[in-house]
Amino acid sequence: VLSLAGVPDDLGFVHFAWDRAAQRREDAAGLASLAALDDARFLAFCGEVPVLRETGAGLDALFQAADIPLRPAGLEQVFLGLEDGAPRSALLLPPDARPALEATAGLVLMDLRTIGIKRPLPQPIISALGCAKALLGWHMKHRFCAHCGQPTEAICGGWKRLCTACGTEHFPRTDPVVIMLVTDGDRCLLGRSHRFPPGMYSCLAGFLEPGETIEDAVRREVLEEVGVRVGAVRIVANQPWPFPMSLMIGAIAEAQSTAITLDPAEIEDARWFSAADAAAMIDHTHPEGLTAPITMAIAHHIVRGYLAEVAAASG
Ligand SMILES: [Zn+2]
Repeated sequence: VLSLAGVPDDLGFVHFAWDRAAQRREDAAGLASLAALDDARFLAFCGEVPVLRETGAGLDALFQAADIPLRPAGLEQVFLGLEDGAPRSALLLPPDARPALEATAGLVLMDLRTIGIKRPLPQPIISALGCAKALLGWHMKHRFCAHCGQPTEAICGGWKRLCTACGTEHFPRTDPVVIMLVTDGDRCLLGRSHRFPPGMYSCLAGFLEPGETIEDAVRREVLEEVGVRVGAVRIVANQPWPFPMSLMIGAIAEAQSTAITLDPAEIEDARWFSAADAAAMIDHTHPEGLTAPITMAIAHHIVRGYLAEVAAASG
């Protein structure tokens, strides 16, 4: 039984709601016509940073074509889909335009982590920004062919790049990351890396390697980072994570051994926590001030789901 059936409303970047309309991507003239419609709207990024506009009621991420700042200097434009039939795209503005944009009245540049935490926009728009950030970020870093080194150009509404010399097609990347809560009955293992804020512990995580199943990646990462052997692995949730372009695959993993041996290069500390401790950490009420990730992050929901299972088993 999966604990995290359904999509939590407060989990970040999982609420993309537009029709991707992938069948439209091959038709360049059709996409240009769509982008010229009155109800077309555009997300704008300055490098990796979303550009928002102030309205009387708060902030908005969607621009009409005529209101896009610095439009002539725009780089890639990608077609994200249709919102109730209306075209939605995203546009990349040069990173060095940031000072000019920040000096423009009515514009606000806010990095996507801050948007995800503060939620000044509806979750579906934040998720669309996540999609756009990952896709535009891929364009920024793949201007040359990985096969022959010659320039590539964006095609298919931004969902491919084509090498101008050898014809190789390159597709946007998504990098899978396993993130797991290791459990030993009513105890769970949380660790912290050197870069976490003081007192924060989270699920262990690491990149999936070529030739590896998700379950094997969970077992390998846990063994490498904390020296604990893991048996059964259940995948319980997943989340696009646009920093820069990952898919977080959330799992609950049963420990077969409990002695912790840290890899000091990766992990500063890891401990077994009681269910009561873990509950206080995600609620930010722990007596020692220890915390676990906030609701935007999948780790929060993996811990919460595990705690619900523990409570159901004991109740
Ligand atoms: Zn090439």
